[in-house]
Amino acid sequence: MSDCLFCKIISGDIPSKKVYEDELCYAFYDIDPQAPTHFLVIPKQHIRSAAEVDDSNSAVVAHCFEVIAKVAKEQGMESFRIVSNIGEQAGQSVFHLHFHVLSGRDMTWPPG
Ligand code: ADP
Repeated sequence: MSDCLFCKIISGDIPSKKVYEDELCYAFYDIDPQAPTHFLVIPKQHIRSAAEVDDSNSAVVAHCFEVIAKVAKEQGMESFRIVSNIGEQAGQSVFHLHFHVLSGRDMTWPPG
């Protein structure tokens, strides 16, 4: 999508600090980290949020989780949190499905 920030990051039109990339997924460090390690894993396919996951795109979403596990292992992350906000009330500000991966500090529950 031409007006999507994360599509522009995938295409390289907007710079990012890459963590991992393959044909289906892209991972990059969050510009405003909320933990010592905070990166985002996104499908290259434009999916608006996790509320739009269905039979046609769920394999790509599953692959994102494989990528999270692989990168976490590579970075020696033993404890981490995965977050995906859906809709404005839940805090979503970029409407391209993304998984926040946060690690390196104590975390509280429930999230605010
Ligand atoms: P929120 O902004 O409330 O965290 P989201 O769950 O939609 O909402 O997360 C979007 C994330 O994208 C934010 O953590 C934000 O810091 C990050 N972000 C925005 N622009 C960039 C960018 N150019 N490079 C890396 N991360 C970005």
